[in-house]
Amino acid sequence: MHILVIGGAGYIGSHVVKALLNRGMNVTVFDNLSTGTKINLFDNADFIEGDILKYEQILFAMKQNVDGIVLLAGKKAVGESMENPMKYAFNNINGVVNVLNAMVESGVNKAIFSSSAAVYGVPQYSPMDEEHPVNPMSFYGFTKHETERLLKWYDELKGIKFVSLRYFNAVGYDEQGDVKGLEENPQNLLPIVMEAAIGKRDKVKIFGNDYETRDGTCIRDYIHVTDLGSAHALALELLEKGGASQILNLGTSQGSSVLEMITKTQEVIGRPVPYEFAPRRAGDPAVVTAKADKAREILGWEAQHSDLDNIIRSTWNVYNKQ
Ligand code: UDP
Repeated sequence: MHILVIGGAGYIGSHVVKALLNRGMNVTVFDNLSTGTKINLFDNADFIEGDILKYEQILFAMKQNVDGIVLLAGKKAVGESMENPMKYAFNNINGVVNVLNAMVESGVNKAIFSSSAAVYGVPQYSPMDEEHPVNPMSFYGFTKHETERLLKWYDELKGIKFVSLRYFNAVGYDEQGDVKGLEENPQNLLPIVMEAAIGKRDKVKIFGNDYETRDGTCIRDYIHVTDLGSAHALALELLEKGGASQILNLGTSQGSSVLEMITKTQEVIGRPVPYEFAPRRAGDPAVVTAKADKAREILGWEAQHSDLDNIIRSTWNVYNKQ
């Protein structure tokens, strides 16, 4: 199978590329390098620099004998999406429409989409399964859900089969050290913890310690990007075998609190991580965890790299070299 990985030079994309190469697939990366970096490219994957907002560019890439695509390109900062929804509408919706139209025009009919737990909004129960009501609390989450709706229509009208993977909190780095690119101005907890550990920032601000959780800080479901990568490979194999379109959660159902992440990091790296308690961040639910039984049943997928020790060690190996 020849797979076009759109956004394959980014943090999650590069781990997906590695997983597909490991399963013997041929890969072409399509990326505009706006947040992705050439450091994340693999020698045994082709690379086309291009932008999904430019229809001719994505059409050209799609016409390179592609059997299926993985669509990761898009904007992903929740806070920014609330301040600048236009940017998110343009990149995450117009861009997706271009990709889908280019698929139809070039006869490509298999798509894996990187969706998010953000589609659910405030959990009514946890762990959340795929039947949990969808009610995004951010414009970012809205764009992810809109893409899923577009995919359903393109499936019905144009026969594009898709697997939408709703990631919970993506963390960790390739354990062989094959992915080295660090995100600029990270917004997520673990890279922020790492930056505090290497002295790149003063301290971690813990957003709220008065939640109704075991230590008062928020609980999230942290899933290693290597485990996300293998789910993409399995999802492509499912569609290759003629499987039906699916929406699947990817998480561990094991929640970790913000304080536990910091304490565990200190333990694993043997250094203090300065932190302070700060007010709650608007829109943060206390607990967000995934029920991922459906991915296990349908894909035969298991999270194998997502114990905290592994997540932190693999991330530290990259940050420690800064
Ligand atoms: N968080 C924090 N300080 C930070 C960044 C994040 O306390 O500087 C908390 C945040 O409130 C949430 C958890 O860490 O409970 C994970 O946040 P992140 O932004 O990584 O992912 P989210 O769960 O919001 O998608």
